[in-house]
Amino acid sequence: MNMSVVRENIDFCLKRIQGACVRAGRPVRDVTLVVVTKEVELPDICEALDCGIVHIGESRVQEALLKYGAINQYAKDKGHRIVWHMIGHLQTNKVKEAVGLFDLIHSLDSIRLARQVDCEAKKISKVQDVLIQINISGESAKFGFPRDSIDEVLKQMRDFKNLNVKGFMTIAPLADEIETSRACFHKLKELKDKLAGGGFYVLPVLSMGMTHDFEAAIEEGATIVRIGTAIFGGRNR
Ligand SMILES: *Cc1c(COP(=O)(O)O)cnc(C)c1O
Repeated sequence: MNMSVVRENIDFCLKRIQGACVRAGRPVRDVTLVVVTKEVELPDICEALDCGIVHIGESRVQEALLKYGAINQYAKDKGHRIVWHMIGHLQTNKVKEAVGLFDLIHSLDSIRLARQVDCEAKKISKVQDVLIQINISGESAKFGFPRDSIDEVLKQMRDFKNLNVKGFMTIAPLADEIETSRACFHKLKELKDKLAGGGFYVLPVLSMGMTHDFEAAIEEGATIVRIGTAIFGGRNR
């Protein structure tokens, strides 16, 4: 892809993020842009880093491992660091690598996975930041805990001393109707606020919103948006 296009796209995304923040009466610093680099070639990723992007999202451990060294080296040479986000479903046989690599795992979607992440983190004396993935829409094909299981899930998480639960992640259905996505985001925000209201859990991070729905997500309270296509174009390019 033409290099300057990546820059233009990032600028445009940042403007749209800013616009959504203004509409929602929220400070822009509340929202972190995670640039999703799955299936994106190195030169395009480097161009994003040149634009000052710090947060990189990958959905497959295997692919992230292939790029990790080169991307980190490029950033290091430029004098900035990268924060790595695991946004895809994490297979239990990839947990060790994932814990070694990622700063924030967005996709904690089972107790079994939580136990394994905790175990691998302990081995390297790391406290792993994680988000709990919630299947808000209730679609059977989606990963994530059901919304009404969250009290029980959080209770169980207390056993895992090497996990630091920072909040929640969800993926809205790929619907034409933006209002369908918005309703999902609204429900996750409500869940977060309800838990905070109970006084036990202040879990500030809400990772929600992708290319087709990130403005609605911000208006509904997202603190992290995960954007790929709007920056790099469609996949399989
Ligand atoms: C691919 C992916 C994204 C980015 O999607 P785009 O529509 O390309 O912006 C965000 N979140 C997850 C979990 C993804 O797998």
